[in-house]
Amino acid sequence: MNVASILAAKGNSVLTAPPTATVADIVATLQERNIGSIVISDDGARVLGIVSERDIVRDLALHGSSVLTRHVSDVMTRNVVTCSVGDSVNDLMSTMTAKRIRHLPVIDRGRLCGVISIGDVVKCRLEEVESEANAMRQYIATG
Ligand code: AMP
Repeated sequence: MNVASILAAKGNSVLTAPPTATVADIVATLQERNIGSIVISDDGARVLGIVSERDIVRDLALHGSSVLTRHVSDVMTRNVVTCSVGDSVNDLMSTMTAKRIRHLPVIDRGRLCGVISIGDVVKCRLEEVESEANAMRQYIATG
């Protein structure tokens, strides 16, 4: 399985927010959409940053509730690690583990075309393990 097959199964619609959105706007969207991060973009294609619930928790702990009225561009991570449609699930697991991140925007021909979360990676690995176990059971049964 690779990024292209994960996106084919889950769809490649990507939620983005503009850098001028407030942290309060982002909190509302994370809650409404039941997601853990949002890519920041001014045109839906070019990645300017990423903000995750961890950034918001950190800034709330450091600066208190005044952070809610700040622009998300003040709290987002600007140096975004991305992946490509041809990357394997193993590539994604290595990157997420090495960089300690749970979300990877997918870039195809310079444009944002999806986001892979650690949940997508775990789901995909579980399906692979299940299908390997079924193949093994069938092999043993038909011996
Ligand atoms: P996460 O584990 O994805 O919730 O994010 C943990 C930290 O890593 C937060 O500071 C995020 O802004 C940052 N982060 C998440 N995804 C990425 C990414 N793809 N590239 C760079 N930083 C990221």
